[in-house]
Amino acid sequence: MRTRALPVVGVLLAVVLLAGIALAVVGPRLADVLDPRPPEACDQDDPTTSGCLTPTALRLHDAAVARFGEPGVGEPVRGITCWSEHAWNPGSDHPAGRACDFFPARSGTFPEGDELRTGWEVANWMRASADELGVRYVIWQGRIWYRGSSDSDDGWGRPYNGGGVYDPTDATGGHFDHVHVSVRR
Ligand SMILES: [Zn+2]
Repeated sequence: MRTRALPVVGVLLAVVLLAGIALAVVGPRLADVLDPRPPEACDQDDPTTSGCLTPTALRLHDAAVARFGEPGVGEPVRGITCWSEHAWNPGSDHPAGRACDFFPARSGTFPEGDELRTGWEVANWMRASADELGVRYVIWQGRIWYRGSSDSDDGWGRPYNGGGVYDPTDATGGHFDHVHVSVRR
């Protein structure tokens, strides 16, 4: 009896252990799906415009400035714009105060050299900090990456099609001149 029961107990323990590990890994994300937290209000002053940001977006902005420095001509990040009315794209996260654009280059240009490198540094840092900063997705160089997703076979994230709003071959529309970051709340 004793010798027959032992393996069963062992298997049960292993199952419980594996379930515990699985829950620890997917738990927080599963909890978000089953009981999503309500969106945050746009109730913080946006340091980049006269508009507003959610607390999560403001935290992301501040963390980026702490990491890459205050924006300006001659600085790694040339400019940051978060809130905007975005009247041409009401579905955008900008009017809700849940997105920031980081320009390593002059608006409307295709960055090269150091500017291009900085853009990739910002995009990859956002991606690496996604859980910590509440990043939902990042658009850069005609590519889009969603939190928790892996790269497609042809490179970083997957191709960005402009979402039916933007020309993905345009410097600004395809997000070649700026890194767009949306936060989850
Ligand atoms: Zn944007």
